[in-house]
Amino acid sequence: MKFEYAPAPESTAIVNIQSEYNLFIDGKFVPSKGGKRFETINPANEKVLSRVTQATASDVDKAVKAASEAYRKTWSKLTGAQRGKYLFRIARILQERAREFAVLESMDNGKPIRETRDTDIPLAAAHFFYHAGWADKLDYAGLGKNPKPHGVVGQIIPWNFPMLMLAWKVAPALATGNTVVLKPAETTPLTALLFAEVCQQADLPKGVVNILTGDGATGAAIVNHPGINKIAFTGSTEVGKIIAKSVASSKKALTLELGGKGANIIFEDAPIDETVEGIINGIYFNQGHVCCAGSRLLVQENIKEELLEKLKRRMSMIRVGDPLDKNTDLGAINSQAQLMKIRELSESGDAEGAERWSPQCELPEKGFWFPPTFFTGVSQAHRIAREEIFGPVLSVISFRTPSEAIEKANNTPFGLSAGIWTDKGSRILWSAQQLKAGVIWANTFNKFDPASPFGGYKESGWGREGGRHGLSAYLKGDFS
Ligand code: ADP
Repeated sequence: MKFEYAPAPESTAIVNIQSEYNLFIDGKFVPSKGGKRFETINPANEKVLSRVTQATASDVDKAVKAASEAYRKTWSKLTGAQRGKYLFRIARILQERAREFAVLESMDNGKPIRETRDTDIPLAAAHFFYHAGWADKLDYAGLGKNPKPHGVVGQIIPWNFPMLMLAWKVAPALATGNTVVLKPAETTPLTALLFAEVCQQADLPKGVVNILTGDGATGAAIVNHPGINKIAFTGSTEVGKIIAKSVASSKKALTLELGGKGANIIFEDAPIDETVEGIINGIYFNQGHVCCAGSRLLVQENIKEELLEKLKRRMSMIRVGDPLDKNTDLGAINSQAQLMKIRELSESGDAEGAERWSPQCELPEKGFWFPPTFFTGVSQAHRIAREEIFGPVLSVISFRTPSEAIEKANNTPFGLSAGIWTDKGSRILWSAQQLKAGVIWANTFNKFDPASPFGGYKESGWGREGGRHGLSAYLKGDFS
């Protein structure tokens, strides 16, 4: 007998989406100087949610001036404890309005409500709470006596965790005394605009946070503005390289959190059922739109068959569909463009001789969807083993000895994350020491905490976010 879940959709009544949005500059929503509007859609049904503004270079200039004035006249005059009060207030408002944020995020991004409700929004609030606690203790962070902020920081974020990435950027910047000009990604601007309302509700002094919607051109205008002292970027390695070049000839400080091709290494003595859950969480969480995803499964050859059988059985239970249904595990791909990219890379896997497997699943007709998938027969040279797919696609590679596992895991231009699954503590330590990755999980995967620094090696980026290390990125000085 087959049991089915009844639909359990979350109501959208709690969100009030305006038909059009202006830019948030100097504490107010203001129209652009000459910027056109563009649509943001719900990727699960392709319906238009709202029309937002493409901020122009002159809007960027206005926002930078507001942020600079706020820095000079108000924010830099406050004590750490006073700044902390605002951060605590923002954190509490985020908790109070958590359901509204979760529903809006699922609608604009396509990710399941279960994840926005249980992960994105609680973690965003936690990030503000954590940094609120640091605001009056910076003297004791081991970063020198009375460390100084940069001033105005420009922050550019991607679409995979829109609200969480905003929190990762804004919370440490404000705690350390900087003011902000932030640009959300073009496909997911709505929670950032709701956050602008939260800043008003929290009575944050005007100009301390400015939010400009727009595409890469707006991002480039922020990067190149001479009034900005530091750039923090999360996004693709490709754009990260462009930004690094632009900033190189200036005095701006820079942190980059870029792509990844994380190895999830399964040794023969791994606890197999927990490991299967960890693999699922590693690559099918958030539709695989995760820079630190465990997108390469390195499995010891003698347990490969058993593991893949169990993985197939578990993948057959993944529920793909309406992101607002509380039973959904895998939501919509964020955009048509991303869907095309996932399809193209998967087709390269077929063409290069790897073997594709997906469970039977019905995909909705409207919207952008891709089933949970893995490839076996993947060689190190295949594009699906080297390039970031940023979708629910796993490449399975086998190994015989621990040193072969490490060699294969490190054989990538990236170095963001890795996972180790084994019964032996000594093997965890041995592997972790040799893996060239910024974040390494042992017998778990995709766990995040504001106290834990996050960032990469090589083409995965520069600098760390979160924890004490993350604070240093927003303060002047050489703390390396
Ligand atoms: P993804 O491939 O994940 O969409 P991108 O790197 O293209 O990542 O986008 C991440 C963020 O960078 C988005 O907010 C996007 O608008 C912005 N962006 C894109 N191109 C540029 C650029 N040349 N300069 C600054 N920001 C950019």
